[in-house]
Amino acid sequence: MDEIMNRVAAVRARVDAAARAAGRDASEIALIGVSKTNPAERVAAAFGAGLTQFGENRVQEAEPKIAALAELRASLTWHLIGHLQTNKARRAGQLFDYVHSVDSLRLAEGLARGAAGRPAPLPILLQVNVSGEASKDGMDFANWERDAAKLEAGCAAIESILGLEELAVRGLMTIAPWGDDPQLARPTFASCRMLRDELAARFPQASWRELSMGMSDDFAVAIAEGATMVRVGRAIFGERG
Ligand SMILES: *Cc1c(COP(=O)(O)O)cnc(C)c1O
Repeated sequence: MDEIMNRVAAVRARVDAAARAAGRDASEIALIGVSKTNPAERVAAAFGAGLTQFGENRVQEAEPKIAALAELRASLTWHLIGHLQTNKARRAGQLFDYVHSVDSLRLAEGLARGAAGRPAPLPILLQVNVSGEASKDGMDFANWERDAAKLEAGCAAIESILGLEELAVRGLMTIAPWGDDPQLARPTFASCRMLRDELAARFPQASWRELSMGMSDDFAVAIAEGATMVRVGRAIFGERG
């Protein structure tokens, strides 16, 4: 488990360096350890190395893991980062502390039902697809800078989501197209940040502070483009089996 400790330290150092290079304060960037496919013991090891925020892709996988780490529950923040099925939305709204993958009103309504018993609204991010890559989930904002009709359609859906009082929209999440060169992700991250600025101007009732962007291979580029949350799996936990 020493290897996890070393990897957490190395990733933190890279986050700090990327923040410094961008003239940003590293304390404004949350490092989320993506623990999917890793058992609870490895999450506990990462917690021992100082990580407190973890990301999971699937409700079914996360539920027993969160239960196995119940003793640490108050110290941990569990993020749902993977695509959510409508029939799991209600459970997700009960289980997680933060949901990054909200990309439809229907899903948001399911989450809101699950979150109804909470003392405070459930923080969520809207997942957006700004690259137009067909394989990516997310609300369709491809080419939004030049496609006014698409922007208006997306904004109409967002306005309805903002009306759900069990949820608190905090910003956007995106996934860059896969590529060998992390610099290829830069236009996607920049477009997501500009879309965030546009939405913040239109809907000042929400906070819009957060930009969840960047994974093991491209988090430094994402930080240069304004990421406030990076979702790092393999660089912390090693290659998935
Ligand atoms: C798996 C996953 C990550 C982490 O990916 P790595 O390449 O392992 O860092 C981040 N975000 C999402 C949505 C994921 O599914």
